[in-house]
Amino acid sequence: MGTHHIIGLSGGKDSTATLLVALARLPKTSIQPVFVDTGNEQRQTYVYLDYLESHLDIPITRLTPDFSQQIAEKRRFIAQDQRTGRDKRGAKLRWSNRRKREALAELHPSGNPFLDLCMLKGMFPSNRSRFCTEYLKKDVFVDFVDDLTHPGQQIIVWQGIRREESEKRKNARLFERVGPGFYYFRPLIHWTTADVFRFLDEKGVHPNPLYAGLGRVGCAPCVYANKKDLRALFALEDGPAILNRIREWETRVSACSKTGRAAFFHGKELAGARLGEVHPLVFWDRHRIDAIKHWAEKPTRFNAGDWDGFEPALQAASACSSEWGLCE
Ligand code: SF4
Repeated sequence: MGTHHIIGLSGGKDSTATLLVALARLPKTSIQPVFVDTGNEQRQTYVYLDYLESHLDIPITRLTPDFSQQIAEKRRFIAQDQRTGRDKRGAKLRWSNRRKREALAELHPSGNPFLDLCMLKGMFPSNRSRFCTEYLKKDVFVDFVDDLTHPGQQIIVWQGIRREESEKRKNARLFERVGPGFYYFRPLIHWTTADVFRFLDEKGVHPNPLYAGLGRVGCAPCVYANKKDLRALFALEDGPAILNRIREWETRVSACSKTGRAAFFHGKELAGARLGEVHPLVFWDRHRIDAIKHWAEKPTRFNAGDWDGFEPALQAASACSSEWGLCE
């Protein structure tokens, strides 16, 4: 058996450049680009993947996370929950009968992995609880690679990460042995952002059009979106549709939450309003998507310097740029 080269593709510039480097060096038959679909992608990213597939004449493997089994288990847990006692905030551990009824009515696989994961968790991911990258990207990709691993088969996962991206990556190695017959290869570690765009241009491949409007590729929206990202997102042609979708998701995830409330951007801590510091109604009202849109678009006394003034180091550390090259 030969060596199999897997490229985690996000639709972003770095993973696309990585794929192009692989195609320049290796026979096409040994390369497998893999895209993991969170269900919360930008429409343009799907279009871009189709473009890459036909322009480069290489099939892209698309993986979709499936949480049906975990949802069935969670349903059983909620239905049978008879716990006594309280959590550290003093709230009862047991699901109330009303919350049980509402959760069991809503908690079914929807066919959208992002929504299913959030309904399963009863909340949206945030900077304090970033479960999306792990469950929607990393685990799915790792399981896929594991299934390909056989004795005698050598697998190299190409990662489009660059040392200049963040502190965490400044010592990234070019080549790394992960286990028997399993390696990481990072051909872009010394590249700059300008190098990446120049390389795409030289290869005659245009970057994802999202770079023109949003400046980055990722979920629509990403829980790390800053004020500028959100303004740009809602100004897109798809902006109203995205707003409606997130509004609907907030209703559905709320129904699956033990508190009966959930907001996509609950981790933004607007005006220092962490849950517990202000009345819950104020907290949720301030964080639901319509309030977030309003907040992002209109200057208020709460937004001076907030988000836009996000420290660059913090921004780099929190941006979703999985090392697998699955989102940028
Ligand atoms: S792009 Fe953002 S929301 Fe999507 S998986 Fe990455 S961190 Fe999570």
